[in-house]
Amino acid sequence: MSTSLAAQGANKTGFRQLKVIKKVRESSTIASFYLEPTEQDGWRNFQPGQYLVFRFPARDGQGFVLRNYSVSCSPESSSQYRITVKREAAPATDLPNGLSSCYLHDEVTEGDVLVAEGPRGEFVLDRDSDRPVVLLSGGVGLTPLVSMLHSLALQSERRVCFIHACDNGEVHALRDEVETLAASRPDVTAHFCYRFPTKEDKELRRHHSEGVVSRELLQSLLPLDDYDFYLCGPAPFMQAVYSTLRSLSVPKQRIAYEFFGPATLLETVTEKVAQVATTPSAPVDMATGQTTVEFRRSRQKAVWDSSAESLLAFAEEQGLEPDFSCRAGICGSCKSHLVAGEVTYFEEPLYELEAGEVLLCCSKPRGAVILDI
Ligand SMILES: Cc1cc2nc3c(=O)[nH]c(=O)nc-3n(C[C@H](O)[C@H](O)[C@H](O)COP(=O)(O)OP(=O)(O)OC[C@H]3O[C@@H](n4cnc5c(N)ncnc54)[C@H](O)[C@@H]3O)c2cc1C
Repeated sequence: MSTSLAAQGANKTGFRQLKVIKKVRESSTIASFYLEPTEQDGWRNFQPGQYLVFRFPARDGQGFVLRNYSVSCSPESSSQYRITVKREAAPATDLPNGLSSCYLHDEVTEGDVLVAEGPRGEFVLDRDSDRPVVLLSGGVGLTPLVSMLHSLALQSERRVCFIHACDNGEVHALRDEVETLAASRPDVTAHFCYRFPTKEDKELRRHHSEGVVSRELLQSLLPLDDYDFYLCGPAPFMQAVYSTLRSLSVPKQRIAYEFFGPATLLETVTEKVAQVATTPSAPVDMATGQTTVEFRRSRQKAVWDSSAESLLAFAEEQGLEPDFSCRAGICGSCKSHLVAGEVTYFEEPLYELEAGEVLLCCSKPRGAVILDI
């Protein structure tokens, strides 16, 4: 894929060009990319935990796909972002490799230009809190937490425990960086838990415990206290750690988390219907019996296309440009007001909604709807 193709569309609102100034292998499956805006006004500050939204050419060369990558460096960095990406190979030979991660790993080199928006995202440190912090990650989920660790270790006096779980030392990224930060003051500790440590890991004592992050491990590492927990990792890790923390009576509001995928699974998912009890029933096109979607502020109305991925995608097909970010029910950027009608969620939103609010990225209409966009 050529640089110019990857750079297409950089002039659109919000997106700008970021040049790859350094590419560093961090483990057998993970690489970091250091990025600098090509234009002087391209820099935007970030809070540790936030991510950039990249626009990559689609597989068929038609249009783009969007992928999020967390900024993994210190927020002190005021001219460069670093993203740290796991190469997502195909799980079976008849399936395609992960589009953007394999493109970044296999084709992008220093000097290439990427197109990205942000940083954005709500998974950020609560700076008003002075509680001790536990940063808990699995696999490549450590990226936003390493950025948080930089900030906490160097700019706060809070006690910090960084707990990272991965398979072994071969795939463990940013290990030295985390150890250096942990050594920066006595109140910052790091614990590495390997599921399948190699002989070399054992000889070199690269890890502190073996197996998975269990209730017993957390109890042994964390003296009784009121902690702020930040979690990021693959779905099974998140489910296990979240339910363990809850079983240890950690209140929900003390657990912040980021998913590197669709927002499902943390709690049992049931298909939810968002209803607006006080709104009038939505108009039905009696002549055709078709479901209509009215975009009231834009003064547009269209017949719902059942092949549309979501209300967000449908609105975009109509030429509208609602705000969005994660496209996975997590961030709330695409929140809109449902003037009338009902929607069905095909992904349970993790973002908390008030009555009458709807997340466009993970919902479809259930009959005719009127949206305030
Ligand atoms: C807020 C946020 C932050 C993130 N930060 C990071 C980060 O810091 N680092 C990071 O590495 N990732 C991060 N991610 C994940 C990242 O956005 C991508 O989802 C990830 O890199 C995979 O994208 P891809 O295009 O490579 O794979 P995709 O093309 O989306 O494919 C994903 C996987 O599915 C497989 N696949 C493809 N087609 C099929 C099929 N038909 N059937 C079954 N399987 C199939 C692929 O082989 C691949 O393994 C983040 C995600 C979010 C939401």
